[in-house]
Amino acid sequence: MIPVVALVGRPNVGKSTLFNRLTRTRDALVADFPGLTRDRKYGRAFLSGYEFIVVDTGGIDGTEEGIETKMAEQSLAAIEEADVVLFMTDARAGLTAADLSIAQHLRSRQKTTFVVANKIDGIDADSACAEFWSLGLGEVYQMAAAQGRGVTNMIEYALTPY
Ligand code: GDP
Ligand code: MG
Repeated sequence: MIPVVALVGRPNVGKSTLFNRLTRTRDALVADFPGLTRDRKYGRAFLSGYEFIVVDTGGIDGTEEGIETKMAEQSLAAIEEADVVLFMTDARAGLTAADLSIAQHLRSRQKTTFVVANKIDGIDADSACAEFWSLGLGEVYQMAAAQGRGVTNMIEYALTPY
């Protein structure tokens, strides 16, 4: 089975930027995998010898109304069908209440989760990322998705069997 990797996090942390980077290969766009609903955005990715399905989501921030409620539902559904969750945060914005509530949900679902601190370009990454350890989900992986920094390492960590 090809692993399913869901990109989860609050809006504007860089999920779609990472999705686009991961799926820009030739036959990247895939809509039709059995068991996966079409309401989320799926792509096929090949990186560093790994093949996987990547799922983009609209984002959750815990205060949803209207259309945002739908986006959050999509995110929760994506978590359920994922083998691996990349929980994306914004290293520039710092830790938010929404990040904490998403983390709590991920812990309760006992999903294999990797915390990604994105947008580390041009900042002191180690000090900016330190607070994300308090999410209680282990290692914090530094990334600048817009530039591709940290992306290959992240995928190797997330998909190497251990
Ligand atoms: P999403 O809402 O989580 O899907 O976030 P997007 O992928 O739409 O990105 C939100 C904004 O963050 C956009 O303006 C991106 O260009 C910007 N962004 C994404 N990744 C990075 C990054 O690595 N560094 C910086 N500086 N900006 C980024
Ligand atoms: Mg997006």
